[in-house]
Amino acid sequence: MRLYNTLTRREEEFAPAADGQVRMYTCGLTVYARGHIGNFRTFVALDVLRRALRHQEGYGMRHVMNFTDVDDRTILESQKAGLPLREYTGRYIEAFLEDAAALGLEPVEVSPRATDDENVAAMGETIRALEANGHTYRSDGSIYFKIATLPDYGKLARLDHAGMKSGARIDSDKYEKEDARDFVLWKATQPGEPAWDPGIGPGRPGWHIECSAMALRLLGEPPIDIHAGGIDLIFPHHENEIAQSEGATRKPFSRFWVHVEHLMIEEEPGAGSEKMSKSLGNVYNLQDIAERGFRASTLRYLYLGVHYRKQLKFSWTAMAQAEEAVRRLVDFLARLEALPVRPARPDLASRLEAAGTAFASHIADDLNTAAAIGVMFDLVRALNSSIDAGELGASDAEAVRTLFERFDRVLGVLSLRRAEDERPPVPVEEIERLIGARRDARLARNFAEADRIRKDLDARGIVLEDTGSTTRWKRK
Ligand code: AMP
Ligand code: ZN
Repeated sequence: MRLYNTLTRREEEFAPAADGQVRMYTCGLTVYARGHIGNFRTFVALDVLRRALRHQEGYGMRHVMNFTDVDDRTILESQKAGLPLREYTGRYIEAFLEDAAALGLEPVEVSPRATDDENVAAMGETIRALEANGHTYRSDGSIYFKIATLPDYGKLARLDHAGMKSGARIDSDKYEKEDARDFVLWKATQPGEPAWDPGIGPGRPGWHIECSAMALRLLGEPPIDIHAGGIDLIFPHHENEIAQSEGATRKPFSRFWVHVEHLMIEEEPGAGSEKMSKSLGNVYNLQDIAERGFRASTLRYLYLGVHYRKQLKFSWTAMAQAEEAVRRLVDFLARLEALPVRPARPDLASRLEAAGTAFASHIADDLNTAAAIGVMFDLVRALNSSIDAGELGASDAEAVRTLFERFDRVLGVLSLRRAEDERPPVPVEEIERLIGARRDARLARNFAEADRIRKDLDARGIVLEDTGSTTRWKRK
C-alpha cells in the first residue's frame, strides 16, 4: 500500500521491514480531560490505517498507543482538582477507553501509561544513553538536549538552522517552531509536583522523552515501521522524539511518519472554521454528540468522508448528512434480507469483484477512504436499481453481504451501527438500579414514585414486566 511519509514529504510504498509484522507507535491522549472529537479524528484515522494493514494487506500488527499521564497540563489540572496525578489521569483513561470502544477502535496490542515503573525506568535509560553520547547538559537540576550536537535536528519539521538560537533553553512541553531550542528531557523537582528518580536525579520527565522511551522499550530494535499522530505533533514533539531516539541508539527511529490533519469546527456552513482544541474552548466530546441525538457510528462515518490529510470541517449539518448516508447503507442491507427466491444473476459476481478491487485500491492509495466510500455507494445505487427491477434474488444476497462485510472490516461503521442497535438504550446497570429503586418505593407504599420510574424507563425504550415478586425488563 502507498502511504504518505512526512519525513520524505512523498507517498511511498509501505511494507513492514520484517516478518510481515507492522511495528507501529501512535501518540495517545494526554489524559487531563476527556478526549474531544478532534482528538478522535486522529485516532479513528489511525484505526483505519491499522485495519487496512491487518485486514486488507494481511500484515501482523504490534501497535503501541500510550497514555500521556504526566506532563505540564496533567500536573496542573490534577493540582487544581486536588487529586494525586495517577488517580486524576486514571479517570480520563477510563473515559478514553469507553469512547474508543464507542467509536469502534480496535484495541491496540499495548497501551502503556508513561508513569508505569518500567516506562520511567526506560526514560532514565534513554537519558543516560544520551548523556553517554554527549547530547545533554545539566542546569539547575534539569537535563536538556543540546540540539547543536545533532546536525540533522529539524529534518522532520524541515527547520531552518540559521534561525535556531544555539544554547537557549526551553522548559515547557509545547512551543512553536520559531522557538527551536535546547529542550528539557528531565525537569528538576518543583514543590507540589510528583517526582521520580530512575538513576539520573530526582525530577519528572519532559513530554517528548516519554514516547521515545516507550517506543524503544515496547517495539524492539529501531527503526520501527510507523510512528503516527495528529499534524500538530510534527513539531516539537516528533522532531524531539527523533532527536532523542536517534541520539540514544545511533539508529534511525521510524521508517514512516504519518500525520492526520485537524478537525476544524464550523458552526454554520460557509462560516469560518477554527481548529478544535481544549485551549480555544471550542470542543465537543462524544457525550455532546449523544445529547444532540447522534450516535458514534455517524461520527465515525463523518470522519471517513474526508481524506485524513485534509482538514475536516465539523458541523451539525454535516452530522445530519452523515446520518442520512449511514441510513441509506443500513436500509440497503435490510432490503437484501427480503429478496424473493429467484435464479442467481449471472453478471453479479464480476460486478462485485470490480467494486471490491476498486475499493481496495483506493484504500491502498494512501487511505483514500472518501473514494472508497464512493465506490460503495455507486454499488448501492446500482444494486438498488436491480432490486427495483426485480433482478436480484435471495441467492445473490449472500455475495453482496460478504462484500459489504469486507468493506466494513476497514471502515468499521456498519458493525458499529449493528452493535449500537443491539445495545439497550439505557445501560443495563442503570436499569437494574432503577428496578431496585422501584421495588423499594413500592415497599414503602410510594406508588407515585414507583410509577414515575416505570414511565421514565418506558419513555427511554425499556418496558418493565412484573411477574409475582420479580421484575423483568425488555426493549420496546
Ligand atoms: P493530545 O491529547 O493533545 O496529546 O492530543 C491527542 C491527539 O489528538 C494528538 O495526536 C493530536 O495531534 C490530536 N489532535 C488534537 N487536536 C486535534 C484536532 N482538532 N483534530 C485532529 N487531531 C487533533
Ligand atoms: Zn508522543
